[in-house]
Amino acid sequence: VESYGLPSDTCPVPTSECGACVIDALPHLGACFISSSMPCDGSVMASSYTSRRFKDLPTYHLTFPVRYEDESIMNSAVQDIKGCIKFIEEQTGAKWSWDAYFAAMKRFNKETQYELQKWEVNQTPYPQLIGPCYELFRKWNYEMDGGIDPRILKTFEKVDELMMEAYENREEPWRGKMRHRAIVWSVPAHYYANFSNWLANCWGINVLVEMESLNYTRPLETEDKEEALKDMARLYERMVMRRHTNGGYDHVLTELWRQVEIWKPDIVIMYQHVSCKNMATLNGLFEDQAREHGVRLIWIEHDLMDPRTVSRKDMRSKVNEYMRTVMREEPLDPSLVDFEDDASW
Ligand code: SF4
Repeated sequence: VESYGLPSDTCPVPTSECGACVIDALPHLGACFISSSMPCDGSVMASSYTSRRFKDLPTYHLTFPVRYEDESIMNSAVQDIKGCIKFIEEQTGAKWSWDAYFAAMKRFNKETQYELQKWEVNQTPYPQLIGPCYELFRKWNYEMDGGIDPRILKTFEKVDELMMEAYENREEPWRGKMRHRAIVWSVPAHYYANFSNWLANCWGINVLVEMESLNYTRPLETEDKEEALKDMARLYERMVMRRHTNGGYDHVLTELWRQVEIWKPDIVIMYQHVSCKNMATLNGLFEDQAREHGVRLIWIEHDLMDPRTVSRKDMRSKVNEYMRTVMREEPLDPSLVDFEDDASW
């Protein structure tokens, strides 16, 4: 991909997107192409790369301000959204419907309430939906749906009912394995989504929430059109990856200590994505400030989508080492400490 113009130091997310373009693995269809989010230089490159590849598809790049806390830039973000709506109307012939949008946002607001209910339960001494079970539901139901499909709400209701019943009964998500409360910080390894299941079963480390879940949760406007566009901009500015890696170190560094206060973990699983320059700049500050805050960080290197650089076994060995040497603990299940899974993907 580099010979087609991608810098050599981008992470596997933009690199694989560009690689898919080069080998023609992306479906070439549709009326137009919209890029959004762009949390880093690699993503910006990947967006321009894709639009160069699909020359016949007109492209619109949503380019929201980086310093998103500054509301004086709101007008520019709203103009960007208006431009995108106009672009879609011109390219597809479809017309924007405020009724459809507000109906979807009302559902999305309800989904957000259910999401916050999970946070509330997991912040108590009796967390219920933990690890990948919580995380995958969030990504594939809450974030991907965004209120569009009315059927999804039924799933939320069902999950909420099960969770509240288990909470009332003070049940444990992993019975007899609740030794430590943990939160995950920084970019997680996509090739090891169930790493936190291993953490719970091998060492009794229970992951209550991941950084990438802690995005925008304010209810979105469902009556006033101008305010609705502002809320949409706020949501996009704070989307996955962008919420923490843009707008200054406060959003990821100081934010960790704020979240530690709220979730009360005794361990922070600190992912170190070896190719993410956004996060790498802060490693030393995390380390120094963790000591001041009395927080235990377990640093775990990974390469996001490429287990050939850092294998799952290497990731586990960092925890094994820390738990034995620093915590002086023995595993709950010694058969899980060391096993081969390099050939699984
Ligand atoms: S993980 Fe880091 S480098 Fe990769 S796309 Fe996200 S912000 Fe960019």
